Amino acid sequence: MTQMNYTGKSRVAIIANGKYQSKRIASKIFSALKHDPNFYLSKDNPDIVISIGGDGMLLSVFHMYEKALDKVRFVGIHTGHLGFYTDYRDFEVDEFLKNLRLDRGEKISYPLLRVTVTTADGRIVTARALNEASLRRIEKTMVADVAINGTQLERFRGDGITVSTPTGSTAYNKSIGGAVLHPTVEAFQMTEIASLNNRVYRTLGSSIIIPKGETVTIEPKRVGSYTVSIDNKSFSYRNVAKMEFFLDDKKISFLSTPSHIGFWERVKDAFIGEVDE
Ligand code: NAD
Repeated sequence: MTQMNYTGKSRVAIIANGKYQSKRIASKIFSALKHDPNFYLSKDNPDIVISIGGDGMLLSVFHMYEKALDKVRFVGIHTGHLGFYTDYRDFEVDEFLKNLRLDRGEKISYPLLRVTVTTADGRIVTARALNEASLRRIEKTMVADVAINGTQLERFRGDGITVSTPTGSTAYNKSIGGAVLHPTVEAFQMTEIASLNNRVYRTLGSSIIIPKGETVTIEPKRVGSYTVSIDNKSFSYRNVAKMEFFLDDKKISFLSTPSHIGFWERVKDAFIGEVDE
């Protein structure tokens, strides 16, 4: 946990998804803060962004403010079950407001992924991911060379490849058999999506953890249509020449209040629940 240069009045953005319950919570927080002299409510240039909804909403809010990562701290309020990026449930708004008023600029930060897509005609598109970025070929088998830091590792054949951040390791990555990575580990993970493995075709099979500073490069070998997914958005490209993945030099920061829940507690809550003795 680190402390920011705290100078008093905070600019706060409140962003809610379209659900009735989320809008209701947004208006409760708005009413509580609008006459508080320590806060200025504005969606422009905020110091603190309050996301109201679920993990999907936090992903959208992250992309809304990703150009201001040096300044912004995020905090999530979930209107359903406890999420991975949300510290408060909808019935804990009073506790959230109490902690917000005690805030002295502490933050907790987690690594992000940087991605570049180079198309066959030389166009380069860059993006940042909070959960993961994937390259998939839908209509036919994806055939692609995979290299790590310039070492040609394997020729992949299958549906595609996902590369996830540590916080994204519990999302799509986990569903396709990837490992769960503690979010303070400065690394990212590459996981195969339905690879072909038989006497003719061979890939490593297991997911791979790659340290900060190294780059994964995927070079598709067939012309055709490819789907690039970045968190909750997907884009179609004709003829991807290569896609590169590495840890970003920026991180996402969350408000570090007493309610910032420990990672293993979230894992237990989401995937295990209470164990019968
Ligand atoms: P969504 O917003 O409906 O989210 C799908 C589920 O993923 C929700 O239950 C959400 O709480 C959970 N989730 C999101 N981020 C998580 C994280 N870091 N750790 C654990 N759970 C997490 O779906 P969407 O808007 O289409 O995509 C958002 C994210 O959902 C994607 O980034 C992807 O990781 C995940 N997703 C997972 C699957 C899968 O597991 N098969 C399929 C699609 C999307």
